[in-house]
Amino acid sequence: MNITFIGLGNMGAPMAANLIKAGHAVTGFDTMAKPEGVTMADSAAEAARGADVVITMLPNGAILRAVADQVIPAMKPGAVLCDCSTVDVDSAKAVAAQAEAAGLGALDAPVSGGIGGAAAGTLTFMVGGADGAFATVKPLFDIMGQKAVHCGAAGAGQAAKICNNMILGVTMIATCEAFALADKLGLDRQKMFDVVSTSSGYSWTMNAYTPAPGVGAKSPADNGYKPGFAAELMLKDLRLSQQAADSADADTPMGQLAAQLYEQFVEREDGRGMDFSAMLPRFEKRGRG
Ligand code: NAD
Repeated sequence: MNITFIGLGNMGAPMAANLIKAGHAVTGFDTMAKPEGVTMADSAAEAARGADVVITMLPNGAILRAVADQVIPAMKPGAVLCDCSTVDVDSAKAVAAQAEAAGLGALDAPVSGGIGGAAAGTLTFMVGGADGAFATVKPLFDIMGQKAVHCGAAGAGQAAKICNNMILGVTMIATCEAFALADKLGLDRQKMFDVVSTSSGYSWTMNAYTPAPGVGAKSPADNGYKPGFAAELMLKDLRLSQQAADSADADTPMGQLAAQLYEQFVEREDGRGMDFSAMLPRFEKRGRG
């Protein structure tokens, strides 16, 4: 397949490298990055011309909309625009509608798995869009990832991603505040883990990504809270969840509070550049007042 890859940063570059390794012809475009081994075009439109699939992996919805304005008129009829960035649901739907009106297929296909998953080709894709477009891109998802779930119509992939990450942010905070409370109550962290990880308080954050160093699963806590999944990326996803909740008139009090706490941690404390599980040392240092 002729593939165009726009946005070759931390995630896009290794994803494109896996497509090339699997034998696909990939033309790239990025305003800054120049990764080795990818043939780069001079503009997004030039990169997109003649491609069967155009994949984008960009920072946010505004940039996606700007790039879509450039590439959609250049794409050949029947080609598919597949956005793998994490963006707001409204931008995902708007870009899909614009692409479909121009006779193209369109998918929103955000990922989980992070930079490690992108390099190893083990990402999970959450995909919104029509069956035909999904079928066209599925072989590429299988190269870049281990699982692709077709979640529904345009926007459903982004919806799945932000709902999942809203649960993740809320449960990480709950797990960290519980460890900090246990400390103050004189409960040993290992005992706390032994009980909770096999009781009704268990969760992915407790069992698979334990935020306490030396306890439970190996995680960024065992590496000085270096990300992993950075607190500012969690903040981005929580903000997107609250933007979507506003737009859909959904009541999400826990998600809203999680967004506020990560905002405080990242923008007014020392959370930027730390893993999102560094909420535990944050709570450790605090009292009730
Ligand atoms: P990044 O900043 O490393 O990469 C983004 C790339 O887009 C950069 O190379 C930048 O130069 C390029 N870019 C910006 N504007 C452009 C334009 N107008 N035209 C062409 N290229 C442009 O970010 P990343 O970590 O690769 O993340 C990309 C997306 O994936 C984001 O939406 C992010 O939320 C999502 N995501 C990231 C992770 C992660 O762990 N890093 C995990 C899951 C999802």
